[in-house]
Amino acid sequence: MNGDTEKNRTVKDADIDKNNASSNDTNSASAEKFADNADADILSDDVLSADFISARDTVSGGANDVCGGTLYLVSTPIGNLADLSSRAIKVLREADFIAAEDTRRTGRLLAAIGVKRPMTSYHEHNKKESGERIIKRLEAGESCALCTDAGVPGISDPGADLVAACAERGIPVVCIPGPCAAITALAVSGADTRRFIFEGFLPAEAKQRQSRLAELSREERTAVIYEAPHRLKKTLSELRSACGGGRKITICRELTKLNEEVIHTDLDGAISLYSEREPRGEFVLVLHGAESKETSVSDWSCVTVAEHVALYEAEGMSRMDAIKAVARDRGVSKGVIYKELLK
Ligand code: SAM
Repeated sequence: MNGDTEKNRTVKDADIDKNNASSNDTNSASAEKFADNADADILSDDVLSADFISARDTVSGGANDVCGGTLYLVSTPIGNLADLSSRAIKVLREADFIAAEDTRRTGRLLAAIGVKRPMTSYHEHNKKESGERIIKRLEAGESCALCTDAGVPGISDPGADLVAACAERGIPVVCIPGPCAAITALAVSGADTRRFIFEGFLPAEAKQRQSRLAELSREERTAVIYEAPHRLKKTLSELRSACGGGRKITICRELTKLNEEVIHTDLDGAISLYSEREPRGEFVLVLHGAESKETSVSDWSCVTVAEHVALYEAEGMSRMDAIKAVARDRGVSKGVIYKELLK
């Protein structure tokens, strides 16, 4: 496939929406293409090698058939319609009903692939009542495809509660894997991918936030953080206070879209970059891990002693314990820390 064709399928600025609003002709053409693909491409045995599960051997009773009484978590594109998998399309087409975080947005996605199914809404603010109704329908033998606005349901998105309720009642749950902003960012970040933590959105509440920042300052594994554009500068600045300006960070913006951008820098560099431009679009921050304890004594020079003590206090330590911990981190005696605090 040439680059231009690929770009044509890219949905600029988060937008399956825009793409779909722009042209009905494009929609019906892509609907046909996707529909063909779903049946003929991945699922036909002649394109399958031993590396892939055959359509006849896979989940739920030996086929890719959509089974009654099953909840399907259908991953949807994080910006590029072409990332919707053939299997996702098949489930969306065949499920008895679709539970959507935003029925209008999912409606546009369905229109783009030429699918019409009954929809119900399932989002953060109605998840209890809506979840109960969905469970009843699953127990009555219907199949449900759950979609969020983008990416994998349940990952910083509604879905986890419904999955837990299904697990409690023995209702089968099948995930149709696909685009996920966190994993896409991690993969392009250049950070250590052998061990990582998913932080999602940092808590908004001040004390919890300070405590999480303090944890991140010591975290040796790569951390993946979601952030909204209007909070990006504040978060970068708090991360710098906690981790020091030299900590490496990869800023991933508008992944899979036309304006995709991956910036490899450190926290000082990130802050100076965004002092010159306004953050726009969607962001994942990949914070590289702290150096291991054996080599990190000098790293704390980027954080003042008072800030360092405050980080531990925010985690709930007493002043005395915080001073001890700071002394240990910096490889100095408690007396040195006391003196510093009195200055
Ligand atoms: N469930 C989604 C997933 O699997 O990635 C995440 C949903 S969460 C509500 C939305 C956040 O994911 C955004 O605020 C942003 O941090 C990140 N995100 C989603 N799409 C993105 C993209 N195309 N580029 C960069 N970040 C993205």
